Amino acid sequence: MEPARITIFDTTLRDGEQSPGCSMNVPEKLRMAHQLDRLGVDVIEAGFPIASEGDFAAVQAIAAVIRRPIIAGLARACRPDIERAWQALQDASRPRIHVFLATSDIHLKYKLRISRQQCLEQARDAVRLAKSLCQDVEFSPEDATRTDLEFLLQIVQAVVEAGATTVNIPDTVGYSMPAEFGELIQTIRQRVPGIEKVTISAHCHNDLGLAVANSLSAVAAGARQVECTINGIGERAGNASLEEIVMAARVRPDRYVYKTEVVSEQLFPVSQMLSEITGVPVQPNKAIIGRNAFAHEAGIHQDGMLKNPLTYEIMTPRSVGVPDSTLVLGKHSGRHALNLRCEQLGFQFERRELDEIYRKFVVLADKIKHVEDHHLMELIRETHGGRRIPPAPVADLPLAIAAAAGSGRDYPQKPLSFPLPAEFSPSGLPLNPMAEHHSEQEDYLWGV
Ligand SMILES: [Zn+2]
Repeated sequence: MEPARITIFDTTLRDGEQSPGCSMNVPEKLRMAHQLDRLGVDVIEAGFPIASEGDFAAVQAIAAVIRRPIIAGLARACRPDIERAWQALQDASRPRIHVFLATSDIHLKYKLRISRQQCLEQARDAVRLAKSLCQDVEFSPEDATRTDLEFLLQIVQAVVEAGATTVNIPDTVGYSMPAEFGELIQTIRQRVPGIEKVTISAHCHNDLGLAVANSLSAVAAGARQVECTINGIGERAGNASLEEIVMAARVRPDRYVYKTEVVSEQLFPVSQMLSEITGVPVQPNKAIIGRNAFAHEAGIHQDGMLKNPLTYEIMTPRSVGVPDSTLVLGKHSGRHALNLRCEQLGFQFERRELDEIYRKFVVLADKIKHVEDHHLMELIRETHGGRRIPPAPVADLPLAIAAAAGSGRDYPQKPLSFPLPAEFSPSGLPLNPMAEHHSEQEDYLWGV
């Protein structure tokens, strides 16, 4: 059976960025957008252009340079918002206007103070206006899961008739249960005439910890777009986490016959970059990209891992881009290789900053021959203080055997914990015997 293709709609820069402590400026959003492009997401929701000058500028800047994915701009269901969004998207190669309007009675009564009939007309008019500007129009009935079902079906039908190409069903308040949310998607598919012409999307919040489960249930029921964020950031408890959705499909194709175009090896670098930019750490036990996601501390687990990583691992660290901790840099490594390694660890430096690290790196490499990730992290910390240290440095992984799983070579000994104990300061570091093992990857780095 051919797996169904799921559109990954990333809203890290919009819904994610709205969450406390996660705001980003324009250059930071642009950096993230480049990384999301490398990750292979299908849609980047770049911001909410009417919300602020900064949001407008970010959407405009991203639309101008990121050419492959669709770039979406959010708008409330009113003319000024839609026109502003369209203005910001002018340079996009594949623009999308994303219009939303709350539809639940509680929102209509207390927030919008409009009747259901007014809501229906406003949604229809807004989609018509957006469609007159842009071919690709998404509509979201905000708080859909607490909206009266019959009314929700009317709204969806109205916006489909008005030209929406994607209908997104948000569980705005994270209230739904997986089976219930799947049934809702199913009902919409069965009862709305013309729905087969549009893509149904799921947008789930994590207030009950069910955002990913609800999204997967929606996909099983026929949704073909999932809205999600890196590290699951977003309003309150966050959005569905992109990395979890992607890896569910990758690890369980037997039960979950869907595919995405996401390059899973980019998941860890993009997660690290986001943490570094926002300063918001990833919880250590976070699935897929948390510091402990591939750590095996218990003796019996370590023993099993050494015999065969599959005893306790359902995916390799490398498959999600957790760098191989045994990968070493030596004094022959160039500045470019060093920079690449820093990037793999989630750091990006200006030229001058990199120069400074490079000078110290050369001195260190001369002394200890092979510079491993944890040495490099120490160097970065020494050079640039705590400022740029991402919260989940890979050297913190308690066991490097995890990082080597699937690499097809010997497992190294447990790496030094970080920060390094005094006797292992970079200046006096003993040579790790495993560092003598050269690998293809190492040669690659040396050759850059
Ligand atoms: Zn949301």
